[in-house]
Amino acid sequence: MVAHPDPTPYGGDAVTRPPWNKDCTIECERRVKCAVCEKPKPPIGRSVPIAAANGYCNQECPGYSQPPEAGHLWPGELKRMDEEDES
Ligand SMILES: [Zn+2]
Ligand SMILES: [Zn+2]
Repeated sequence: MVAHPDPTPYGGDAVTRPPWNKDCTIECERRVKCAVCEKPKPPIGRSVPIAAANGYCNQECPGYSQPPEAGHLWPGELKRMDEEDES
């Protein structure tokens, strides 16, 4: 009998998400529209690619820090994290 060859880094279950995202749900990807400029808000704490920046609300907008509050993941990120599992 071979002893446990390669324990998974996060304590045994087959989740490959980083620990800080392990409780994330699809709600974390929610996309909201700024009430002031009517552009979508980017996920909180994430940078917007410069090429796309014009299409998003930003911190200079008075609506940025007001409700509705954006999520903190880009749409599709959770799915991608779970899919990376397969490799
Ligand atoms: Zn989350
Ligand atoms: Zn705005």
